[in-house]
Amino acid sequence: MTEHLAPWPLQHLDVADARKAGHEPVPFQQFILKIHSRCNLACTYCYVYEMADQGWREMPRLMSPAVTEMTAKRIDEHARAHHLPGVDVILHGGEPLLAGTRWLTELTGLLRAQISTQVNLTVQTNGTLLRPPMLQTLRDLGIRVGVSLDGDAEATGRHRLYPSGRNSYAAVADGLHLLGSPEFREIYGGILCAIDVSNDPVATYESLLKFDPPAVDLLLPHANWSSPPPGSGYADWLIEVFERWYSAPVQETQIRLFTELIQLILGGSGAVENLGLQPETLIVVDTDGTIKQLDSLSSAYDGAADTGLHVFTGSFDAALDHPTTVARQMGADALSAECRACPVMEICGGGLYPHRYRRGEGFRNRSVYCDDLMRLITHVSERVISDLAGLSTARSPRLAWCRAGRPWLQDAPWSASPRTGAAPPRGAAPHGPHSPSPPRRWPG
Ligand code: SF4
Repeated sequence: MTEHLAPWPLQHLDVADARKAGHEPVPFQQFILKIHSRCNLACTYCYVYEMADQGWREMPRLMSPAVTEMTAKRIDEHARAHHLPGVDVILHGGEPLLAGTRWLTELTGLLRAQISTQVNLTVQTNGTLLRPPMLQTLRDLGIRVGVSLDGDAEATGRHRLYPSGRNSYAAVADGLHLLGSPEFREIYGGILCAIDVSNDPVATYESLLKFDPPAVDLLLPHANWSSPPPGSGYADWLIEVFERWYSAPVQETQIRLFTELIQLILGGSGAVENLGLQPETLIVVDTDGTIKQLDSLSSAYDGAADTGLHVFTGSFDAALDHPTTVARQMGADALSAECRACPVMEICGGGLYPHRYRRGEGFRNRSVYCDDLMRLITHVSERVISDLAGLSTARSPRLAWCRAGRPWLQDAPWSASPRTGAAPPRGAAPHGPHSPSPPRRWPG
């Protein structure tokens, strides 16, 4: 008998029991459409082309008009059923800009014609095709642009290469300079940087700052207990960047990992999928119309993102009842015993779901980056709290709640202040999961 690759949640999570226990489905708000299945780069760490799941080889190159239209109808059906005021649609690939300006215009028209609620469109690109005609089209269509870049030319040249082995940096830098120019800045979403601990952290951050991004995302490499990270020292790397960013006299950009972390430390709710316990509301439609879980799950094993659903035969509501969706929406109840006993569980949330995987067990483990997450969270907590030491908790009940609910902060300098105030409801943060800020989690 062959071993099941992920008995939890696929075999052992009883969805009916979870519903009875009060875990209601939370509607999807973010829809990743893989509109082009091929890429003009061959990045060494790409989870689409270089990792366990090689399903892309059977995919059509381009999402067809029929699949696009049906996807749009399904999104509209879902939005209407759940009274959603708006949805985020993220155009992804492969390299989505290979679809070309004409198809992007048609596709956007199809989506906007079918979806009756507000549609916030973003494209996550490798940045090599950001020439003026493409940028004009994206701006005219109101599509925000997120670009993947790992740092300076040397850092980018480690992984982000053309199939010939040529470094993609020069083309991306040209594209980013254009995107940051007054003509196109309104659609500049930010830069997404995959961490390589071989690169100097501060030099990496400063090389991204040269492109004046409104936001930067720092992503840990996809790894799990059966496929360990490519290096070590991720907490040290991130702490160096945090100190450079946090100590700057003015905020030079937003680093969402840190701003969300601070928000969680102060008692708010997180809006990034690798932190906190908020239910995940992201779903993927592949080029052929199959409905999938977050595609970074492909880094765990071949088929890990499959739901068995297709836009022509199944609704997004059906995907809400898939065990992986339920697991991603269950908060602490989906976590391992170690995580549930962890003092930083509410902040960490067990780490990114794919990083919890262990072959033959599944996804109910602490993150393979657990030690790094604990160190980073502790460092940021201590730094923020020492800065808040002068504030009176009597005037700031939220801070008092923060300390009361987080025993590892009891020795904070402001611990002599009276404990007053009630816990704010989760989701009360100003930057909730459905904020209009551009989506930012999807490497391209
Ligand atoms: S720090 Fe480790 S044990 Fe604690 S919640 Fe995160 S992954 Fe789990």
